[in-house]
Amino acid sequence: MSSFLPLLGPEDPTPYRITKATAKGPFVLVSDHAGRAVPSCLNRLGVEEAEWERHIAWDIGIHGVGIALSGLLGADLVEQVYSRLVIDSNRAPGHPTSIPAVSDRTEIAGNKALSAACRARREREILHPYHDCIAAILGARKSPTALIALHSFTPVMNGVARPWHVGILHHRDTRSARIMLDLLRQEGDLCVGDNEPYVLTATSDYTVPYHAERAGLPYLEIEIRQDLIADEAGQKSWAQRLARLLPLYWNAISGEN
Ligand SMILES: [Zn+2]
Repeated sequence: MSSFLPLLGPEDPTPYRITKATAKGPFVLVSDHAGRAVPSCLNRLGVEEAEWERHIAWDIGIHGVGIALSGLLGADLVEQVYSRLVIDSNRAPGHPTSIPAVSDRTEIAGNKALSAACRARREREILHPYHDCIAAILGARKSPTALIALHSFTPVMNGVARPWHVGILHHRDTRSARIMLDLLRQEGDLCVGDNEPYVLTATSDYTVPYHAERAGLPYLEIEIRQDLIADEAGQKSWAQRLARLLPLYWNAISGEN
């Protein structure tokens, strides 16, 4: 297709989905990998249909957790609608893994040898509108806020099994992480990862560094193992757990100020 045409056609969804807050509270929920839509002009990126069921396309289960958690807390939720294979909303523009040509051993034909114009179009029409939406919601808030980034991780990556049920990823805001790690460990039934299965850094991630660390906002980046939230019962149960623990986290961090 010509790089002068828009990427998104009239039949393609808006790149972000907002679930509006129904109560006053400190949390803004964001979910970079909640969706797996593909702009129709990209022809499924040349990737087999079965691959779209895998974790490479999206964070399995996290949409259900996010919607349920937003409902329980009455908090704003912003979700990315397009697949991370189209463009990864948790990578800075131009990052080497932003538009992956290979993901967990699967080749993404439609991402190979992309022109600068095609990359720019995905950034302009999918990445930036999503982050502009988050920035607008954060910018309009008048009360203390914590950014809660919701993710899920595959139980097995590159053939290696992961033992953690849940992980808290952190970089500059170690205080928030420490409080939430303690709360999760006190649950008694969880294997809790401290910067596992990934380490949060200023360059590997984008959403937390860009929206929270840059502004000095407290944040939590939460990773839940996908087999625990594969069905609705698991999603509800994890949403209920987080809806119980997040206010305790907020009380603790507010009390320390
Ligand atoms: Zn994710």
